Amino acid sequence: MDKKKLKAYHDRLITERNALLGVVGRNEDYGREADIEATQDPADKASNSYTKELLFSQSTNDRIILTQIDEALERIEDDEYGICLNCNKEIGAKRLEALPWVRYCIECQDQYEKGLLNNEE
Ligand SMILES: [Zn+2]
Repeated sequence: MDKKKLKAYHDRLITERNALLGVVGRNEDYGREADIEATQDPADKASNSYTKELLFSQSTNDRIILTQIDEALERIEDDEYGICLNCNKEIGAKRLEALPWVRYCIECQDQYEKGLLNNEE
């Protein structure tokens, strides 16, 4: 992959990473605040724990993407970016533009989602 393209993906990954870090931080703050503001009303308590669960699952997703972004940044460093981790073929440019942190090409992603890939860490 040429350096210009690589730099563009790198910049996008950094931007996404910062955005996600902001989101994760805010959600954690909000979770703590919701805790402090909790009242003794059982209905309020229920909606409070629901909100916390929702925030938790959101930030879990964010963390997964953050990990994948970090891995993608490492692959840029190692000059392995844009190569499918399973079949070592180049991942399509359109796919990388949509999701610059993807690990697999579209075929392998499909297998991964069906649980057919064996090389999960
Ligand atoms: Zn592949």
